[in-house]
Amino acid sequence: MKKYNFNAGPSILPREVIENTAKQCLDFNGSGLSLMEISHRAKDFQPVVDEAVALIKELLQIPEGYSVLFLGGGASLEFCMVPYNFLIKKAAYLNTGTWSKKAIKEAKLFGEVVEVASSAESNFTYIPKGWSCPTDVDYLHVTTNNTIFGTEIRTDLDVPVPMIADMSSDIFSRPVDVSKYDCIYAGAQKNLAMAGVTLVIVKDEKLGRAPRQIPTMLDYRTHVEKGSMFNTPPVVPIYCALETLRWLKNNGGLEAMDKLAHERAEILYGEIDRNKLFRGTVKEEDRSLMNICFVMNDEYAELEKPFLEYAMSKGMVGIKGHRSVGGFRASCYNAQTIEGVNALVQCMKEFEASH
Ligand code: PMP
Repeated sequence: MKKYNFNAGPSILPREVIENTAKQCLDFNGSGLSLMEISHRAKDFQPVVDEAVALIKELLQIPEGYSVLFLGGGASLEFCMVPYNFLIKKAAYLNTGTWSKKAIKEAKLFGEVVEVASSAESNFTYIPKGWSCPTDVDYLHVTTNNTIFGTEIRTDLDVPVPMIADMSSDIFSRPVDVSKYDCIYAGAQKNLAMAGVTLVIVKDEKLGRAPRQIPTMLDYRTHVEKGSMFNTPPVVPIYCALETLRWLKNNGGLEAMDKLAHERAEILYGEIDRNKLFRGTVKEEDRSLMNICFVMNDEYAELEKPFLEYAMSKGMVGIKGHRSVGGFRASCYNAQTIEGVNALVQCMKEFEASH
């Protein structure tokens, strides 16, 4: 039976990305060696990094003056690397859920943190609006897509200070005005690659200003200077990222991804709103196009487990909601097809008809 992958991350990747990466794992560029066996300093590997960086700059239209890095440690390590490198005295954070909270916790180790707004009181079912950002902070940190709660900030905010964004779960799903950010970071394992590498984009002139000593590996300048090769980088995930970036370019780039994201979301949210069994969990205007969260309507609460089992029997994978929300979460990253979304909608319709 065909499986439809709705996992929140690690998650669906384009089939050709997986196949091409698998081929290189068996025989890298006809060298007779696996991609897993070569040195990151092998002459054939540098072009992989160079092409990946060039494609990222092209797809995101990154202005001059920014560096693109491939680091280890996941987006979670960036929670501390960001304040280590960018927090001089005071930073502002928008609290939109679990991942923002983790970022705030680390920032507090380095200086004063102003929480500009939070939707914690409603279990993060919306993106706070109407707050103002202090002008005397070094940066405002936002989590553009809240993977767990299914809310998203799908525009580049207008604030009086530079932003730093965790874009782990929506990077490359829309065009971004990079010039508004001093730093953008994203764990690879949603829209970019297999797990194991973190993409970081930093504004060079903002580095080296923080009034503290930074351990070498945690100093962005180390990785800028060494082109992400200070230590052994995760070679296979970087190669996988390159394949995804090629796929993105061949499939119309970020505008096409944005359009597709809207199409998928319209189909699925449309069914959630129409179907008598289900309801969405977040405020309509803040609905994520990447992680679509929904629950059973109260009068059908006992059907949660049966629906999950039914959907699984039809090939749906990974739609169980995160424990902090419950219900269901269908993650619709770039590689998610309209066919996959329609298959889930079909399950919802069939299940409604039989109840
Ligand atoms: N930020 C967001 C928005 C995430 O979704 C995740 C992981 N799901 C993380 C940070 C943490 O990423 P990692 O596991 O790569 O540290």
